[in-house]
Amino acid sequence: MDRPVDRRQVLKGAVAGALTMWASPRILVGQQADKVKVLDGGGSNVLAFSSGEGLVLVDSGTPTSGDKLTDALKNIAAGSKVQTLFNTHYHTDQTGNNEMFATRGAKIIAHQRTRQWMSTDYWVEAEERYEKARPKAARPNETFLTTGSLKAGTEQIDYGYLPLAHTSGDIYVFFKTSNVLAV
Ligand SMILES: [Zn+2]
Repeated sequence: MDRPVDRRQVLKGAVAGALTMWASPRILVGQQADKVKVLDGGGSNVLAFSSGEGLVLVDSGTPTSGDKLTDALKNIAAGSKVQTLFNTHYHTDQTGNNEMFATRGAKIIAHQRTRQWMSTDYWVEAEERYEKARPKAARPNETFLTTGSLKAGTEQIDYGYLPLAHTSGDIYVFFKTSNVLAV
């Protein structure tokens, strides 16, 4: 494509009619229903959606926030298992507890490039160091290129690739029934 795609336009297309609120570094758009909670993942946001049959998370927090996150999840839905975890991109602030949730049986969904980034060592120019590839258990086990969708209880969840975003593999997750967008 010759002209860069404006991220706002992409989002507007994804959630026509939703209320919009832009906040850095994570963005939520729409009306937050009771089923949706935004948790502190050690400085980054973790969105938890309770479907009644289990939990859907968007991002897994920083590497040291696992215990706190586990407690917070117990408070919102005791006995509920995390069935699905989305990673909006590959940074450790968003994928730090992937192993923990994968071990407990969660499916991890992300863009194909997110899994590629997490599967190889790469050079971090600004910090002059290599970031090590993540262990296999931390990597997404279901990936996509453009869009996808699933049902969690009665909730329709649509997700897709965001071009020209924070990394080359950023995605949005749109909880359509509740009208909540996480990017
Ligand atoms: Zn990041």
